[in-house]
Amino acid sequence: MNPTSNHTHPRIAAALRGATDTRELLLGDGVIDETADVFRLLFGNRPATIVADANTFEAAGRRVCDLFARAGLDTCAPFVFEDPNLHACYEHVEKLREALTGNQAIPVAVGSGTVNDITKLAAHESGRWYMVVATAASMDGYTAYGASINREGSKQTFFCPAPLAVVADMEIIARAPAELNAAGYGDLVAKAPAGADWMLADALGVEPIIPEVWSLVQDPLRELAACPEGIRKGDRAAIRNLTEGLMMTGFAMQQAKSSRPASGAEHQFSHLWDMQDHHHHGRIPLHGHKVAIGALASTRLYEELLRRVGDELDIDAVCGNWPGLSEIEDRVDRTHPNGQLRRVAREEMRAKYVTPEALRVRLTRLKQIWPTLQERLRRQLFPADQLRQMLVAAGAPCEPTEIGIDLERLRRSHIEAQQIRRRYTVLDLATETGLLSVCLERLFATDGPWCKPAAPSASSRPTAADTRNTQAGNGKASQQQEHLGC
Ligand SMILES: [Zn+2]
Repeated sequence: MNPTSNHTHPRIAAALRGATDTRELLLGDGVIDETADVFRLLFGNRPATIVADANTFEAAGRRVCDLFARAGLDTCAPFVFEDPNLHACYEHVEKLREALTGNQAIPVAVGSGTVNDITKLAAHESGRWYMVVATAASMDGYTAYGASINREGSKQTFFCPAPLAVVADMEIIARAPAELNAAGYGDLVAKAPAGADWMLADALGVEPIIPEVWSLVQDPLRELAACPEGIRKGDRAAIRNLTEGLMMTGFAMQQAKSSRPASGAEHQFSHLWDMQDHHHHGRIPLHGHKVAIGALASTRLYEELLRRVGDELDIDAVCGNWPGLSEIEDRVDRTHPNGQLRRVAREEMRAKYVTPEALRVRLTRLKQIWPTLQERLRRQLFPADQLRQMLVAAGAPCEPTEIGIDLERLRRSHIEAQQIRRRYTVLDLATETGLLSVCLERLFATDGPWCKPAAPSASSRPTAADTRNTQAGNGKASQQQEHLGC
C-alpha cells in the first residue's frame, strides 16, 4: 500500500520529500479510514494509545479506536483529557508521559493544537514517535517541528520532532466548530506579515531567508487563502485549501527547525497575551484568533512605516539618543510588572541589543535599500483594509475587543511584544527607526485605523440568518465571494 498516492497534491508530495520527520500526510475526504493502515505501515505491530480530549474523542477518537480494533491492532486504553478548558501546559505533558511509561505504545493524537502539542512533547520525552489525526484546521502545528507549551508561566517552544504521519480528513475537519477553522484562517493569513518580517530581517542582514523553505509557505499562500467566505460556510474546498496551507507552513518549520517561516510580530502579540495569562469570558482565546488581531496590528504598523521611513528617518538623531543596555533593562523593568515576563524580556533584549555604532550601520543600509525593500514589503502584505475584510468574511476576529483586548492595551502591547523575543520584526524596525511612538499616535488617533468606525460592509458580522442564507448560496454571499476572489 502507498497511502499518499491517492490524496496528495504535488505540492504536498514535494514538501514530504523535503521533510525530516513526517513520512505520510493523508489529506482528503474519508482518509480517516486509512489510519490503521498508515499506523501499521510505519509502526508495525506496536501497540497504540489514542490521545484525545472529550470533544475530539467524540469527533474522531472513538472512530479511530474502532478502526484499530477492526484492523486487529493492539491498543491500550485511550488517554482522554477530561478538562473542558484543556490548554497546552507542561503538567499535561507530564501526565501523558507518565501514562506512557508503563508500556511501549505509540501515541496517536486525535485533536488539534493543544492535544497535538501535548502529545508531541510527551512522545518525544518518552523516546518514541507519534502520529496525529487532525480534527480541525485551527493552526499550523500539525506538521511542525517543536511544541508550544506553557511552563512556569511562560510560553516556550520545546524542540521535538513532528509526527511521523498526519491524517487530515476533510469530512471531519469541515464539521469542526466554525470558530476553530476561522482561527486557522487567522493563522494562515498571518504568514503575510510574518513573511514581511523575514524579508526585513533578511534585507538587513539579521536572518537570511532560506529560499526553499520560504517557497513552501509563501508561493501558495494567496491561492490557498483566497476564499475566506468558504471557511465560514464550511465549504469543503475552501477548508481543504486552508488545511493544505497550514500543513505546508508546518513542513516549512519542520525543514527550517525554526518557527521563523511562520511567525513574526503577529505571533509575538499572541505570545505576549499568553504570557500575561490573558483570558476572555473565562477562556484563553484561540491561538489563531489572537494571531488574527496580531496580523492586523502588524500590517497596520507596516503601512505607517512604509509611509514614513523614506522621509522621516533621521539616523543621526536616532543613534545620538540610542539607549545603553542598562537603560534598556530599566525600560524592560518598567514595562513588565510580571516577574517571569520581565526575566524573559531582559534576556531577549540583551540578546538583540545593538550598539549605536551597529545601529548606524544597519539604518544606513536600510536607507540605501529602502526604495526596493518598501516595494517588496508592499507586495508581500495584504493591504490592511483587505486583510480586515478577509478576517470578517472567514468569521475570525478583526477587533481586539472580540478577544478581550481593549485599544489601550493593544497600543501598549506593541511596546511590550517587541521586548519578549529576539526575532527581528516590524516592531524592531519601528523601535530602531525611532518611529514607533509617532506611528502609534496615528494608528490609535480617533480618526486612525483602530478607532475610526469600519465601513458597514466590512464591519457587519454575519448573523445566524446570514449564515443560513450563505449556506443556501444566496446573492449576497456570492457577491462577497466574487469580491474576495473565491
Ligand atoms: Zn500560529
